[in-house]
Amino acid sequence: MALKLYNTLSLKKEEFKPLKNKKVGLYTCGPTVYNFVHIGNLRTFIFEDILRRTLEHNNYQVKHVMNITDVGHLVSDENEGEDKIEKSAREQKKTAWDIAKFYTQEFKKDIADLNIEPAQIMPRATDHIKEQMALIKILEKKGFTYKTSDGIYFDTSKFKKYGKLGKVNIKGLKAGARIKKGDKKHHTDFALWKFSPQLGSRQAHRQMEWSSPWGIGFPGWHIECSAMAVKYLSQPFDIHTGGIDHIPIHHQNEIAQSEGAYDKPLANYWMHGEFLVIDKKKMAKSESNFITLKILKEQGYHPLVYRFFVLNAHYRTQLNFSWEAMESAQAGLEHLYNQVSNLKSKNLKLTSKNIDKKFKQKFLNAINDDLNTPKALAVMQELLKSRLVTDDCKLATILDFDKILGLKIKESLVSIKIPEKIKKIAEERLEARQNKDWNKSDILRKKINQLGFKIKDTKDGYTLKKS
Ligand code: AMP
Ligand code: ZN
Repeated sequence: MALKLYNTLSLKKEEFKPLKNKKVGLYTCGPTVYNFVHIGNLRTFIFEDILRRTLEHNNYQVKHVMNITDVGHLVSDENEGEDKIEKSAREQKKTAWDIAKFYTQEFKKDIADLNIEPAQIMPRATDHIKEQMALIKILEKKGFTYKTSDGIYFDTSKFKKYGKLGKVNIKGLKAGARIKKGDKKHHTDFALWKFSPQLGSRQAHRQMEWSSPWGIGFPGWHIECSAMAVKYLSQPFDIHTGGIDHIPIHHQNEIAQSEGAYDKPLANYWMHGEFLVIDKKKMAKSESNFITLKILKEQGYHPLVYRFFVLNAHYRTQLNFSWEAMESAQAGLEHLYNQVSNLKSKNLKLTSKNIDKKFKQKFLNAINDDLNTPKALAVMQELLKSRLVTDDCKLATILDFDKILGLKIKESLVSIKIPEKIKKIAEERLEARQNKDWNKSDILRKKINQLGFKIKDTKDGYTLKKS
């Protein structure tokens, strides 16, 4: 099946057609490095990783760029308040540069833990001030800009298609109290360049500032993506991604800047991941509901359990986080690892000729249908239960699926230390429980204990540990 992706531009699933034969340019908005990323942010990065791996599995050569926002993102997503990095530096009594460096490193560790392939190019906004200024100059020449007391602004009334992404209701946005107008001409206008606060004001001592034709200051948040995307991918490129919160403001503004400057589309496909929520509320760094990967690890969950949890939901549906759900995901992943390690085949150097074509097609039909990972996981279970496929072929096919899923199934086969004998008894016991044969289940539990292991029942199966 041809690859189909949901495009926020058309609000439809579309067949993916690259600009250049078999080469894909992919731009994903990266983290703002003033704090640890939370597991909501990481959900979006996992979705983007699945997209990249799916493209690669469809034989596309992907050039992936993910920016690091280390300047210009203000406390409110608009042009208000302090720069997030500068604020964090002030609070932690460190330099803004140290803050950005530290949280960039932590972000890279988190994505490595989650088996997310890092983008080949991860440019920092502060390394591209010249490019951002050059783009603002083009916009200035073309009459898109005006000056206020605190910066150079983009006049959104001059960009006729403003709001085209996701058919956002701009009138509604203007009416909303969320965006303050101040001395801007229109509510939706946004800063391209902000002047450093004058000495004497409360935020007077900015650490990150540059001279520019408009005065000493720093770039607005949106301009970095427009400038770095065209530098590394040229314009137009194929796919631009981010979380859905970027649709009404950040991506609308990227489009206005890039398309205003060069009179051609910025990207052909725009894809957005839905939120991770907790008690129906978006997980956000500014809320008290903020959970990091470190917290998950401290609670005893392997990062791949979180990846598995995320893959069990489609990227365009909201996903609710709870500790019970993590417990189920843990049992589910352990069960999967056990199922695979119970296959009689132990030949890990399986060749592609062992891959079962029918199941591979089924799996690709699921994943190529706008990255339907829950369905893809169901196909994997169907394969594991099939009586028509040999263990050798099952293993080869699952390891092939895992190139997209990224659950490190091959590594788990090598690292699982639970002996085969124990795993077999555990599976037998699971079957007994499913048949409500509590007596047999009890006997098998004792047997496992006697052999030096502990089995814990969970909603979806069990976990095994050495006692
Ligand atoms: P930020 O560091 O705030 O720029 O966000 C990094 C990425 O995470 C962006 O693509 C956001 O859209 C995304 N994001 C933010 N909050 C959530 C959430 N609760 N669930 C999923 N993605 C999110
Ligand atoms: Zn961006």
